[in-house]
Amino acid sequence: MIRLLSLVAFFGTALSLSAAEPAFRAGAFAQDITPTKYPISVNGGMTDRQAKGAHDRLHARCLVLDDGKTKLVFVVCDSCMIPREIFDNAKASAEKATGIPASHMMMSATHTHTAPTVGGVFQSDPDEGYIRYLTEKIAAGVIEAHKRLAPARIGWAVGKNDQQVFNRRWKMTPGTIAADPFGQTTDTVKMNPGYQAKGLLEPSGPIDPDVSLLSVQTADGKPLCVLANYSLHYVGGVEPVSADYFGAFADRMKQLLKADDNFVGIMSNGTSGDINNINFAGPAPKGVQPYERIRVVADSVAQTAMQALKDVKYHDHVTLKAAEQEIELGVRLPSSADIERAKQILEKAPTPLKTMPEIYARETVLLAKYPPTVKAKLQAFRVGELGIVSSPCETFVEIGLEIKKKSPLKPTFTIELANGYNGYLPTPEQHQRGGYETWRARSSYLEVNASPKITKTLLELLEQVK
Ligand SMILES: [Zn+2]
Repeated sequence: MIRLLSLVAFFGTALSLSAAEPAFRAGAFAQDITPTKYPISVNGGMTDRQAKGAHDRLHARCLVLDDGKTKLVFVVCDSCMIPREIFDNAKASAEKATGIPASHMMMSATHTHTAPTVGGVFQSDPDEGYIRYLTEKIAAGVIEAHKRLAPARIGWAVGKNDQQVFNRRWKMTPGTIAADPFGQTTDTVKMNPGYQAKGLLEPSGPIDPDVSLLSVQTADGKPLCVLANYSLHYVGGVEPVSADYFGAFADRMKQLLKADDNFVGIMSNGTSGDINNINFAGPAPKGVQPYERIRVVADSVAQTAMQALKDVKYHDHVTLKAAEQEIELGVRLPSSADIERAKQILEKAPTPLKTMPEIYARETVLLAKYPPTVKAKLQAFRVGELGIVSSPCETFVEIGLEIKKKSPLKPTFTIELANGYNGYLPTPEQHQRGGYETWRARSSYLEVNASPKITKTLLELLEQVK
């Protein structure tokens, strides 16, 4: 009788093993993408800057997930913005080497303002040598993370940190906002108005306090990767080259988790087109040392992450799904009168350009060559019950909040500056209010109604993967 029972037990186990789902696997790798040649152009400002060295390393932080049927790739690069062509080329190389379809790969930029220029904005032009280097390194990072695939467990959580995010667009009392770079006085909100500036009324929009986390461990429970998402533009105030708080967060997570060198921390940007780390309602902070603010913010967000990670329920297997769609969006092309005015301004302008009307006049002339419509790549992913969507813009926070609220997958998080760069994405309402993010330039050119179209498509893609 005992022997019979053990026989049943033996076959029972064998049966359940053969019927079990294939092992869930993950691989992570932080590929160094720090430039090797200096000086190098750095974007993120109205004028170009030249970096002479690196304060800290830049990385393309890669995570590959495999549920046995479907593989997903997430890559977050320390860069201000990365044009579509670079990501497409990197994905094609990575697909060739790994067999993972490019449509299952999400690649984004953090939005550090202290990294080499790879997309031309304002007076910074890309460095072709670094573009080739970056493209190859992103692909190499995916290939290495794919090689490292090993049995893993996975979970997710959302912490809250409302201390490091502020809406940077403020409603102002009439008459306190100067003319915009096109000579118009229609703006009712001002970006970065100054600490306790005259005329401050209230922020023009909300914040998103979510610190969203996807946590991956080895099969024996060691930390392998934390992919985080927080809606903060960047911290800044430092010399290039630096990965800003995004890199500091990854380092801090490794310390706090007491993880080994195989651990990869990743901070992706949420929807932070109108969010920064400056509290304009309060007085200007005094005596802040360079890099101090970055460390403070990285630690604060990492502490929130550590707290939230305590509640993670790890799964030995989850289902992975991906959906991708391209949509066509109109371009806010300048009129012939706009172009004529811009040319007149540029005729008398110095090199490099100094004033805002001059800088935006050049943008107007460059935008005149744009096609009437552009394609934007949108994606949705499912990792178990977690949803992730991506947009190729500096997406306003209210758009992310709306997607999170309406998503069929709870929680959902939203990665911006992904798979290309199509400039700022304000809502139609914020367009009406004007301000820097709406001023027509290569960093803000999509049609006024782009955001409802993008939101609608992302919600449809989430329905497809749910
Ligand atoms: Zn920006």
